[in-house]
Amino acid sequence: MTVLPAPKMGEPYLLTPGPLTTSFATKSAMLRDWGSWDAEFRAVTAEIRAGLLELVGGVDLDCVLMQGSGSFSVEAMLASFVPHDGKVLVLSNGAYGLRIAQTLEYLGRDFTLMDKGDYMPPRGDEVAKALAADAAISHVVVVHCETSSGILNPIAEISDAVKAAGRKLLVDSMSAFGAIEVDADYVAMVSSANKCIEGVPGFGFIIAKIEELEAAKGRSHSLCLDIHAQWLHMKKTGQWRFTPPTHVVVAFLEALRAHKAEGGVAARGARYAKNRDVVVEGLRGLGFETLLQNRWLSPIIVTFFCPAHENFDFTKFYDLMKVKGFIIYPGKLTIVDSFRIGCIGQMDENVMRLVVTAAKETLIEMGVDNAAPPAIAITERNKLT
Ligand SMILES: *Cc1c(COP(=O)(O)O)cnc(C)c1O
Repeated sequence: MTVLPAPKMGEPYLLTPGPLTTSFATKSAMLRDWGSWDAEFRAVTAEIRAGLLELVGGVDLDCVLMQGSGSFSVEAMLASFVPHDGKVLVLSNGAYGLRIAQTLEYLGRDFTLMDKGDYMPPRGDEVAKALAADAAISHVVVVHCETSSGILNPIAEISDAVKAAGRKLLVDSMSAFGAIEVDADYVAMVSSANKCIEGVPGFGFIIAKIEELEAAKGRSHSLCLDIHAQWLHMKKTGQWRFTPPTHVVVAFLEALRAHKAEGGVAARGARYAKNRDVVVEGLRGLGFETLLQNRWLSPIIVTFFCPAHENFDFTKFYDLMKVKGFIIYPGKLTIVDSFRIGCIGQMDENVMRLVVTAAKETLIEMGVDNAAPPAIAITERNKLT
């Protein structure tokens, strides 16, 4: 692989978990127009579906592309694969888990929420217990990497518990797919264009068991989000049912080819893990503390506590980092102030070293000589070892 180029249009790096910094080749792929019915564009759609399936390697699976942001595909998945008389156990430890529960409320599907708060992970034994206690639960939904804290949830042990209880698993692998293997026995999983494959936003994709796709007929509340109908149409005609985001789709194919050229899921995950290691080590060296201990840190995004120092102000920190070429992300913890640094996108460890230098200079400019968090943050962190 060549050295990753800096963003060529003069924009800052996006240290955010999608939209993220894309390659110039991916951006350039959007410079021509395509007829959505044309054979060339149909070939693009076909190559993407096959390429995504290749990443998971399942033979009894198929891939359906869906217009909209990632949440549209999550909603489509829930509406299409959970029967009207089904019941869902939602495992939540952050904003995306709660959004799944909210979506089920909109859809009028029965569910139980296992709410673990800001970041504590749902564990396999808890899931087993919850399933044993309620025979009506037909499906379990889990978020693979909960992007709101950056925790990598233990989906393998959760999958084992679901399987042992004879229930079905749905996975929101939005921010992990393409960089981390989806190590779970799922009936369907979902991700989107603007996360670890490094495309631009505009569509999501669902990978599901073929028998589940067949069974989804007539279930969806929504014409547009009906995965069964979209699947049948794509299989029959090679086209999307309604206008696809053509430029986004073509850019995604460019990104998917680059993903393969880089070495697939393993290589992408290794680059992101290196990004994480450099930024975590560097910021810890400045006195910052992470919310999570090392074993729970994902290579996707990391939450840092805001320093307790009286001169520290997040908005100022954000603005000064942006001037230096980096857009960081506010935190989502309810108990302590925090911010997040994304490790995904077209950047490597050299860029992450520049991030650390920028943070160091920013602290000096703000007059913060100690980046340690308040004592309550350490108490919070020690809840999960
Ligand atoms: C990004 C993301 C989504 C989808 O969010 P959109 O804003 O709709 O794209 C869903 N779940 C997780 C875990 C995510 O990271």
